[in-house]
Amino acid sequence: MDLKLTGKKALISGSTAGIGYAIAQRFLAEGASVILNGRSDESVNQAIAELKAEYPNGSVSGVAADFSKVEDVNRLIAAIDEIDILINNAGIFEPKAFADIPDEDWFRFFEINVLSGIRLARHYFPKMLAKNWGRVIFISSESGVFIPDEMIHYGMTKTAQLAVSRGLAELTKGTAVTVNSILPGPTKSKGVGQFIEELASSGGKSTADVEREFFKDMRPTSLIQRFAAVEEVADTVVYYSSPLASATNGASIRVEGGLVKSIL
Ligand code: NAD
Repeated sequence: MDLKLTGKKALISGSTAGIGYAIAQRFLAEGASVILNGRSDESVNQAIAELKAEYPNGSVSGVAADFSKVEDVNRLIAAIDEIDILINNAGIFEPKAFADIPDEDWFRFFEINVLSGIRLARHYFPKMLAKNWGRVIFISSESGVFIPDEMIHYGMTKTAQLAVSRGLAELTKGTAVTVNSILPGPTKSKGVGQFIEELASSGGKSTADVEREFFKDMRPTSLIQRFAAVEEVADTVVYYSSPLASATNGASIRVEGGLVKSIL
């Protein structure tokens, strides 16, 4: 299937690793030009070098910016005036008991997971409306619907993204701009892979055992009973970023292995 992405310019926040990096790979394979982002020049330059080696004809650049620092975000916006596709992917998670989560963590999670996308959309979304084409995608999570009791602050940010996404979609009425959210379920990104390996080595178990137990005890409603691969999420994101997905707007699209027990 030709996704008709050739020549489109996509900015992906938090894309030096994990789901964001896989999204960059898929965009490059489809002929889109990609702007990467990570926290340091080193990580951005390394990811650019790897992607250039994999896609020698691809157009890939990058800007380092830490979304916990507003001055970094402003620098990123000053460096990139206009884009066709905005993927709000940067995000952090950390299991922590509710009573142990201080105010600073609530603010930090909100700034990195929610305000990051708001700050970028505030600049790029009106320009998309003005040229009557654009895609904004928020990488939310199944945790925005199924709030995990081991990290309520993370769940709060993922629900907030759904609200912002739907609100922005309301502003696209009658245009060819769409705003949607993608809700991945447990996905084996770099961060999650490391987390599983740590659990396995501290418990003297194999990673396969840890994965099986995680789904049995913590995510029993998952229908696939395994972590998704980052590519499975990236393929969905790239499709909904494409001109082909023109009739999907204001939607929350699940790639969570059937974990959320709902038919809508
Ligand atoms: P990851 O930790 O593997 O990669 C995260 C990326 O974000 C990295 O490129 C990192 O550099 C960047 N990042 C982190 N903090 C940043 C900051 N302050 N400023 C700029 N960049 C920053 O994560 P992932 O698992 O690929 O997650 C990506 C997105 O997908 C997140 O929004 C996450 O909430 C969401 N998600 C992940 C899963 C999962 O199981 N992996 C499930 C549902 C949703």
